[in-house]
Amino acid sequence: MRPVGYERPADVRSAVGVLSRPGARALAGGTNLVDLMKVGVEAPEVLVDVNGLGLDAVEALPDGGLRIGAGVRNSDLAADVLVRTRYPVLARALLSGASGQLRNMASVGGNLLQRTRCPYFMDATKPCNKREPGTGCPARTGISRGLAVLGASEHCIATHPGDMAVALTALGAVVRFEGPDGPGELPMPGFHRLPGDAPQRDTELPPGAVITAVDVPGLPYGPVSTYRKARERASFAFALVSVAAALDVADGQVRDVRLALGSVAHAPWRARRAEEALRGRSATAASFREAADAELEGAEPTTDNAYKVPLARRLLVGTLLELAGSGR
Ligand SMILES: Cc1cc2nc3c(=O)[nH]c(=O)nc-3n(C[C@H](O)[C@H](O)[C@H](O)COP(=O)(O)OP(=O)(O)OC[C@H]3O[C@@H](n4cnc5c(N)ncnc54)[C@H](O)[C@@H]3O)c2cc1C
Ligand code: SF4
Repeated sequence: MRPVGYERPADVRSAVGVLSRPGARALAGGTNLVDLMKVGVEAPEVLVDVNGLGLDAVEALPDGGLRIGAGVRNSDLAADVLVRTRYPVLARALLSGASGQLRNMASVGGNLLQRTRCPYFMDATKPCNKREPGTGCPARTGISRGLAVLGASEHCIATHPGDMAVALTALGAVVRFEGPDGPGELPMPGFHRLPGDAPQRDTELPPGAVITAVDVPGLPYGPVSTYRKARERASFAFALVSVAAALDVADGQVRDVRLALGSVAHAPWRARRAEEALRGRSATAASFREAADAELEGAEPTTDNAYKVPLARRLLVGTLLELAGSGR
């Protein structure tokens, strides 16, 4: 048995102080961290409980947006009336994740920082560049069914497995944190990293930092937004591919659009090429198909996960058709 320390700081600065020590890890709901400790992937020396830091409010911002505390539970956020009315895409993404019991424990900060579900990463007996840099990436020639088709590197083809972050990426959210050098902000996309030659780093969050909140900017057409998730079971399953979308259509033309794809890359994938291809175009199935093709032309799938490319295309087109109010 390995002893693990436990601290429950009373404020954010004290939490950053303890978290800056080697071997310290923040503990929120524990639904990912404790699972990884059980299988030997994580072995913290001290757990820093961030549940007493008062980070559990959802507040309206003057620009029509929201500030969401990092400690807000996924269930509470999905049920929040401001989230449901201003950003249905976020409420739906949250409700599509995990199970009711898990959503009751899972926090906003912990959900953003959940680790990949790559089977080699989760198996401490296997080599993996994300767990131990330089040991190799067996997924490249092994099991890669759930892994990345966009933005991968020779060092890692893992995906960010979460749903909430895909909606937040489409909405252009900003992650606020307190680090050893003071407060800071990271926009989404930009918070999660592509693997490059340092796949051990999932995000740009400085070591020792505590996520304090996520700001979601006001979006006038946010109410016309949704989240679709393709998965192997109707519930309690991670996405094979997901789409977060918000669409502004006037007189049959796309005035503006926000799109992000989930479970296709190491980071939630803002589909900017598709967005650019759509602005000013007619809101028809043909335009939506062309936009999806523009986004996915750079895909580099493995044999195992080649299905993700046509799946993402169909999911993107179907979601846009739904938002455009077309049944075709
Ligand atoms: C069976 C199962 C199915 C699941 N299905 C889905 C799914 O379909 N979709 C989905 O999105 N997720 C899914 N999840 C993942 C689940 O959503 C995450 O485990 C959860 O969101 C993590 O939140 P937490 O508060 O429990 O984080 P923890 O486990 O407490 O922490 C996770 C990480 O975040 C760090 N951390 C937490 N809070 C902070 C903070 N404020 N500042 C800095 N660091 C912090 C921790 O140190 C740790 O590294 C599933 C999980 C399980 C077990
Ligand atoms: S894809 Fe990434 S997480 Fe999976 S084995 Fe390769 S390096 Fe490890």
